[in-house]
Amino acid sequence: MFIDLDHFKDVNDVLGHSVGDLLLQEAATRLLAALREGDLLARVGGDEFVAMLPGIESAQNASVIATKILDTLKTPFFINEEEILVSASIGICCYPQDGQDVESLLRNADTAMYEAKSAGRGTWRCYSRAMTVAARRHMELLYALRQAIDHGELSVVYQPKYDARTEKLSGFEALLRWEHPKFGAVNTHEFITVAEQGGVIDDLDYWVLKQVCEQISDWRRNGLSPPTIAVNVSAATLHDRDFVTTVSQTLQEQKIAKDWIQLELTETALLPSFDRPDSALNQIRALGLGISIDDFGTGYSSLSYLRKLPVTELKIDASFVRDIATDRDAATIAETIFAMARSLELNVVAEGVETAEQLAFLRNLGPLQIQGFYFSKPLSARDTQILLADIARNAVNN
Ligand SMILES: [Mg+2]
Repeated sequence: MFIDLDHFKDVNDVLGHSVGDLLLQEAATRLLAALREGDLLARVGGDEFVAMLPGIESAQNASVIATKILDTLKTPFFINEEEILVSASIGICCYPQDGQDVESLLRNADTAMYEAKSAGRGTWRCYSRAMTVAARRHMELLYALRQAIDHGELSVVYQPKYDARTEKLSGFEALLRWEHPKFGAVNTHEFITVAEQGGVIDDLDYWVLKQVCEQISDWRRNGLSPPTIAVNVSAATLHDRDFVTTVSQTLQEQKIAKDWIQLELTETALLPSFDRPDSALNQIRALGLGISIDDFGTGYSSLSYLRKLPVTELKIDASFVRDIATDRDAATIAETIFAMARSLELNVVAEGVETAEQLAFLRNLGPLQIQGFYFSKPLSARDTQILLADIARNAVNN
């Protein structure tokens, strides 16, 4: 059993190493108490423990003890009068089926532990062969992704947004694509997750922002006037110390006006800093950039924080739009989100619109933009340029 305390680094960083050390001792005492007589517990690294449990026949049986360990950690720790909450992620593997020697057993328990971390921490996972396959792919993708920018494998596509009533083009969302010589076109959700976990997501976000700014400059030099283009920003990038500077410099370099670009962030990215006046978000808003909440309704949506956030737009998640015309509950949620957004004077975008029925329903709600395959799939930069040129030509002819 590989046991790793969750977010232990935060304890060291915030409360100091001496508190961290005492916490480790306390945690070790509790771990030992949760084990059986004859089990062996070892501390193998900073906040990593390994437990050896002889005589257990299946990983499922070990999970009973894993659950006991997680439970015993749930009671808050009191160290130097500080109340500290700790959880752990546990990976389980079994001799002989999951490994024939110490090295492979440790490695596979470690792999299972990472699965527990990815599943949201504070839980256990039993090792399976598929985890090694997935971990290997993850590692290969991350390695390839680190070079993807330099190797010219990334590109940006533009997902059009339309005004639901006039059906006129009203904006774009810039989306990242990756075409690798060996892996082919890698699913965006997959490689974004790899980039987030591997700590390279900020490089990708900044690259897209720069790319879009250069593209807008280029189009404008050629007499085209693209509507506002939204650029996705991940939580890690928002919390990068240089975020505000990097954004404002990139905009300045290409002389981008503040309404040519807006940023899209998910609710979970926005939450931690929502009431700090000096937050990166407030600084971005002070630059005049619009801020959109992506996938709205899937996170911890709450009115109280929505009111305090410096946001300008809200995107109704595609999962609500999907059943809007057929399911009363989905329709009610969409109506409620819309009403709430309007009362806070936010723009609304409905994502994932695919049918005429969905469009008709949304159009009835009131003024909003829609995005989805019903009108258009994401377009390459070249096709976007053709679309913009068409619109410009029609405007002249009319
Ligand atoms: Mg988005």
